[in-house]
Amino acid sequence: GSVAVANAQEAGKGRLGRHWETPKGSALAFSLLLRPQIQPENASMLTLVAALAVSRAIDEYAGIKTQIKWPNDAVVDGKKICGILTEMSTEEDSIRYVVVGIGINVNTESFPPEISDTATSLKLSLGHELKREPLIGAVLKSFEQYYSRFMEYGDMTGLMDEYNEMLANRKRQVRVLDPHGSYEGMALGIDKEGCLLVKREDDSVSAVISGEVSVRGIYGY
Ligand code: ATP
Repeated sequence: GSVAVANAQEAGKGRLGRHWETPKGSALAFSLLLRPQIQPENASMLTLVAALAVSRAIDEYAGIKTQIKWPNDAVVDGKKICGILTEMSTEEDSIRYVVVGIGINVNTESFPPEISDTATSLKLSLGHELKREPLIGAVLKSFEQYYSRFMEYGDMTGLMDEYNEMLANRKRQVRVLDPHGSYEGMALGIDKEGCLLVKREDDSVSAVISGEVSVRGIYGY
């Protein structure tokens, strides 16, 4: 339950070694240290729990309609406002700890050219600045609630419906960028393992596991 917050971050990272921008003084960058007693293979679902908590907190604190791009991005106006990275350390078959890193674009005014079309901030969406402290408070409060619901089952059973309501990809055409072969289909929602169910052209349903796979909306996020 410890939380580390940084005012600036020089080497922020996303999945698969991608870079995460955290301009000094304008964004939120914080990490939660957790020691859940669950199976290590279920720990990646904590990314979805965090995405739900951030989206709910932004909705409530800033009054902005926030959606989730599976598995872990919070999206406002079709652009990414928050990134989440979950990493874990294991010992034999049990979890030593999990670190959930969260970056939220709060008062950021501009982004490097390579992400300026896909990134936004609360300030850009609202037209005015917001204090960062109450937002981190709101995220932690909602995370605590969702985390305890997650721990009741050790999976997304109790959170699935709420997550699916916020899912930007739901009932949308998506392209699944699988290293073993890309395909398109309609995203139906997540299952209790947090996999994205995608209905393919032949009507079969694939359960997409996060990790190596990226999902792109055919028309924006
Ligand atoms: P994918 O969309 O392929 O699933 P991802 O959403 O999992 O990728 P992350 O690892 O969460 O990607 O985030 C890294 C990516 O986010 C970078 O490659 C960059 O394009 C973008 N990015 C970096 N910094 C920011 C930021 N401050 N705001 C929005 N987007 C950013």
